[in-house]
This record gives sequence, C-alpha cells and structure tokens, in this order.
Amino acid sequence: MEKLNVNYIALLITSICNMRCKLCSFAVPYLQSHFHYDKDIICEDLQTALNLCGSVKHVDLMGGEPLLHPAISDIVKKIATFDNKPAQIRILTNGAVVPDDTLLKTISIIMASGTDFLFYLDNYGSISTKTDDIKNKLTVAQIPYREVVYYGDEQFSNGWVDYRFDEAIPTQKSQTNQEIQQVYDECFFSTADMWELNNGKLFPCAYTVTSDALGRKCSEYGEYLDLRDSTLSISEKRKILHNWTTRKEYYSACRYCGGLRRNSPRYIAAEQV
Ligand code: SF4
Repeated sequence: MEKLNVNYIALLITSICNMRCKLCSFAVPYLQSHFHYDKDIICEDLQTALNLCGSVKHVDLMGGEPLLHPAISDIVKKIATFDNKPAQIRILTNGAVVPDDTLLKTISIIMASGTDFLFYLDNYGSISTKTDDIKNKLTVAQIPYREVVYYGDEQFSNGWVDYRFDEAIPTQKSQTNQEIQQVYDECFFSTADMWELNNGKLFPCAYTVTSDALGRKCSEYGEYLDLRDSTLSISEKRKILHNWTTRKEYYSACRYCGGLRRNSPRYIAAEQV
C-alpha cells in the first residue's frame, strides 16, 4: 500500500489546563477527569501512528495546556529520535505558562541536530498573562514561534467554532443525509488529513477525538483506529487510514457536528466558564 502523506497529527498529552474555555476543542471543562498522560505510552502510540502513516509533516503537542506536562521536554526529545519523525514538531500553548529552561534547552538541541520546531503561541488578550515573557524568552533562546491573536478586531479565523461539547447528550445538527454530506464536504478536516491521537486511538478530526474522550459513542470502528488493537494486522490498520485520505462520504459523527467550515458561526475565543 502506498505511503500516506499526512498533514498533521495532534497528540493530546494532557487534559489538565490552567484555563477553562467554554468552547475548548478538547472539552476540558466538561471531561470527567483530568490527568497528564504517561510519556512513554504517548511516545509509543505516536511512533506506531507515524510508522503506519509513512510521512507526517507536523506533530502538534496539545492538551489541555501541554506546557503543564512535567515530562514535555522528554516527549519532545523522544519524538526527535524517531526514525520516522515528523518534518516539524510544534507545541500549542495558551500564553499563560512560560516554558522552562529544560524544555528550551531540549528544543535547541533537537533543532541543532536537524529537527524543525515551532511554538504556536495563542494570545487571548488579558488571560494570556505570560505572552510577553514567553516571546522574550523564546527570542533570547532563538526558538521560532508564531503568535496567533484571538482578541480585538483582527482575531485569527474570526474566533472559535462551537462543537457543543457542553451538551449532555449530543443533538443532531443536520437532519437529512444531504445536509450532513454538505457539512462534511465543507469541513476543513474532510480534506486536510489532520488527525488527532488521544489515549491510543487515532481519529480523523477534532470533533471525533473529543466526543470519544467525553464517552460519546459517535464513531463506528474504522472511523477511528485503536493503535493498540492487536487483532488487526499492520496492513489492516493502514487500510483504515488510507480510507480516511480518500473518503468521500461523511462520518457517523458529522450528523452531530457543525463542522469546521469557512462559514461556520464564530464565537469569542477562550471565553471562560
Ligand atoms: S465530525 Fe465534524 S469536524 Fe469531524 S469531519 Fe465531520 S463535520 Fe468535520
């Protein structure tokens, strides 16, 4: 089977956060429990995913707030040693935690040995209290970052979408098959090959990974992949992933989701609950 060229894998490394964003794409305020994931298990799962894919441009370390994970430096270091490492490792942070010296040293070392790295620094205005400190520290350490502004008139993407993770039971957002198909067709995730990895399971989009974390049964098997499933061969697992890249029909979950679309309604980013 031909090698897959995946745009990115978002690796959820913690469900602990120092913010409680109402529209959090990982539904942090609505999860039953919060914890840092075991670093060795995270890295093993990611390595399995990378080996199945063949080629992945970006691995994004996400949460929760990934800078709160006590082993984030070890996780970055480990990923950079993979034979099949991504072209770039990125950390997405909320601008309220200053990265420690150990992490910055690790990043400098992996960059010096040829691994591309980028900080995504979300700036939510007054609650991103450490934005200036972070920018100064990264500048001094010569570590690249991209600031993504989510306040004022020029906010990125005009704000956040609402996946309605606050609903106790998800309601259907589109009624007819045609409407659901349209949501899927217009959804960024349907064409971008941006997958999300949480707790050993790989999902094709943000809605499906978070629904699973909330205990919702929105996805059929084959619409996600349990990387630890020993009953499937490597080629069977690859076939599932290959189907995602060529898929034309909507996922079961799309009926409950408004999608991440150009014309999806946008709301204030990082509003706290
Ligand atoms: S479930 Fe939502 S985010 Fe996922 S592909 Fe369907 S419309 Fe897009």
